Parts: sequence; structure tokens; C-alpha cells
Amino acid sequence: MAEPKFRAPKGTRDILPPESARRRALVEVFADRASRSGFGEVVSPMFEDMGVFKRVGESTDIVTKEMFDLYDKGDPPQHLALRPELTASICRAFAEHRPVPPWKVWYEGPQFRYEQPQAGRYRQFTQVGVELLGTDDPQADVDVIALGAGFFSSVGLSRVRLLINSLGDPQCRPAYMEALKSYLESRGSDLSPQSQVTLERNPLRVLDSKRRADQPIIDSAPLMVDFLSAESAEHFETVRSGLDALGIEFDISPRLVRGLDYYTRTTFEFAAESLESSQNAVGGGGRYDGLVEDLGGPPTPGIGFALGIDRILMACDSEQVFPQPPPALDVFVVDVTGGPHALSVCDALRGRGLGADRAYGGRSMKAQMKLADRSGAPFAVIIGEDEVASGEVTLRDMRGDSGQRRVPLAALAGEIRHLLSPKQER
Ligand code: AMP
Repeated sequence: MAEPKFRAPKGTRDILPPESARRRALVEVFADRASRSGFGEVVSPMFEDMGVFKRVGESTDIVTKEMFDLYDKGDPPQHLALRPELTASICRAFAEHRPVPPWKVWYEGPQFRYEQPQAGRYRQFTQVGVELLGTDDPQADVDVIALGAGFFSSVGLSRVRLLINSLGDPQCRPAYMEALKSYLESRGSDLSPQSQVTLERNPLRVLDSKRRADQPIIDSAPLMVDFLSAESAEHFETVRSGLDALGIEFDISPRLVRGLDYYTRTTFEFAAESLESSQNAVGGGGRYDGLVEDLGGPPTPGIGFALGIDRILMACDSEQVFPQPPPALDVFVVDVTGGPHALSVCDALRGRGLGADRAYGGRSMKAQMKLADRSGAPFAVIIGEDEVASGEVTLRDMRGDSGQRRVPLAALAGEIRHLLSPKQER
């Protein structure tokens, strides 16, 4: 085969059928769970004013190095960026529309980060997530975390670990940051060169380093949990006991800091144990009590998470769960008369709510039957001259359950429905 003239850009992929159907089914499981927990969907733009993202992570790689930014054709041009995540957009939307809190929303869509692509790390990837704005009740934290954990269970994943931590609040964080900074500075020359630069910008981010040279230093670093204010400590305690009460297992991970600057108090991550450890984060989130205000809205606490659909599907493959959904077709119509019958029969069956497809280009019976087979439809409808003359069609059970017989055209949809009903399948 000749080399294609163009390929999808580096770090992006085409998701083709049937994999795309499995992905959609996964998003639907999430949408169902989120709606049943009182969250409504928000669809927001894929690009925003660059300022929306600058506010959320000026000391993070996501904002400083990985943004896909552009200038529009306005006069003066506006500096825009493709969204790298959705929490900032949701908070911007909250500040703009001022819905009545608590505001519970979920979302789904592509995110863009200029990262070095590798397995499970793309430049365009899909996230689903929720945000709950307008309350700092720790029970909201529990509810949100339980929604994520429940989603993983309902997909069939059993090897997803929940890690939680508290990053404190604006009262207690400065003392911790001071302690962390002086500790890291005292070990400065032993840190990796990259972490020495990070230390200048935000000492907390050094804890996120995966570089080997940094590990022993990180392992002995002071911990936020030892600096928590009484309020933050109590909040964290209520979250933990709430999770216990729901039977949700978790590990406390005192060095979990997450990749964005806006987190306060509860933070958490879901790690798939079936995936390679460098790419095993299948989701994460936390509280961001100052973000709406930073974006020009009223003081509004919030908590949420984002889950990576691409990686969750990889975890499903490793755990061999969440298989391809069955084909949406019920019938494949084989028309050997060369006339317009397949058109009208398909149209009528689709009008009755059934899934119907057909071949094109007047192909032979054999070729059409091959397509019928490949379509995965449980039934084939065969239309020949004989059938047309008698106002009937031949209905063939491709599963081999009920053979083949003539059915009056007018009764076809009803007959297929009857055969598809669970009673018949038993
Ligand atoms: P974050 O917004 O960085 O907290 O990411 C939340 C989740 O999105 C992660 O746990 C991953 O599952 C997924 N994710 C983040 N970045 C990427 C990427 N470049 N490619 C694929 N999935 C990603």
C-alpha cells in the first residue's frame, strides 16, 4: 500500500469503529451515573482566553510548556488556548452565568496538551468529569469521590486504587511551604537539575517529580498533613470517615500534590494497578476553593475530578472487562432483485425503531450474505423476485436459533421484535 500523503498529527489518533462504539458506551456509563447523582451536563468551548488557564497554573508544566495557544484574527488579536483541562472552563462559566449554587455539572470532551507522546499519553485525549461548586461541606467531597469510585466498579474494573491527601488551606499552607522550601533548598545540589528549576517556581511541584535522583529527597520531605490547620484536619477526617462508612477503600498518600496549582484541602487520584506505573493515573481531582474567585466570580468553594477515557479503556483491556458493545444492527437486508426494495424495507424497519443496514451496488447474493454475516446483525432479510411477487420476505436467523422462513412484509418488524424479545432469547 502506498504511503498516505497525510497522517493524524503527532500525539493524536483516529478512533475508528468498532472501538469508537466502546468508547461511547463508556462515556454513557459515566453520564448515567453522573445524572443519577444530580449532575447536569455542561458543554463549553474547546478554546478559551489564555488568561483563564494562566490563572490556574502559572507554575505548572501544563500551563507553561504544554499549551496549544493561538492568536485569532481580531484587531487587536485575542490570545486563545485549546483547553488542557475543564475545571478552569467550568469555573469561568460559573463566574460568567452565576447559577444558583450548589451547581453540579458533568462534562465530556477532548483536552489538548503538548506532551511527549507515549503509550497512554497523547496530545489530544478525552476526559469525563464532574464539578460541584458552591459548598465546602466535606460530605460533598465524599459524594464526588464515591461517584468516581462507583463508576470504575460499574465498568467492571476492580484493580483501581484510590489515593487521597489534604493540601491544606490558605491559613496553613504558607507555613508548610516555608518548611518544604527550606528543606529542599538544604538538599538543593542533590536534586535533579529540573527539580532545582521547579523549586524556584513552586516547591510543592518538586514532590511530583518522578526522577530517580529526587526520590530519596522527596521521601524525607516534610509532609502537609503535619501542618494542617484544625479546620483542614477536621475536614480531612470527615472525608476519610465518610469514605469508610460507604465501604470505599483508599490509601492516604501524603505526597500526592497533583499537576495544577489550584488545589486546596482534599486531593485524590485513581491509579490503575493493571497499567504501567508511569502512566497508571486514570483520574484525579480535588478541592479548589479559591478558583472561581481567581477567575472574577464570587467566593465559591468547589470540588471535582477528571478521568482519562483513553487510559480507562487501556485498563479495561488489561483487566479484560467492558467488552465491545453488541452491534446496533438487528437486520441486514439482502436484496437480489436489483430494485429499490432494500431502500424501502430498511426505511420501514428503522422507522419502527429497529437497526437495519444493506449492501450497495447490486452485488451478488453471496457477496451480500457475506456482508450480512460481517455486520453482526442477528437477522437477515432476503428479498428475491419470488418474495416480491408474494408480498413477503425471507427472514433468516443468523444466530441459527430459528432457521429461515417466509414472513409477510407487513408483519416483518413485529416478527423481528418478537424474536428479539428476551423471552425468545432464553
Ligand atoms: P489531570 O487533568 O492532569 O489531573 O488528568 C486527569 C486524567 O486525565 C489523568 O489521570 C489521565 O487519566 C488523563 N490524562 C491526563 N493527561 C493525559 C494525556 N496526555 N493523555 C492521555 N490521558 C491523559
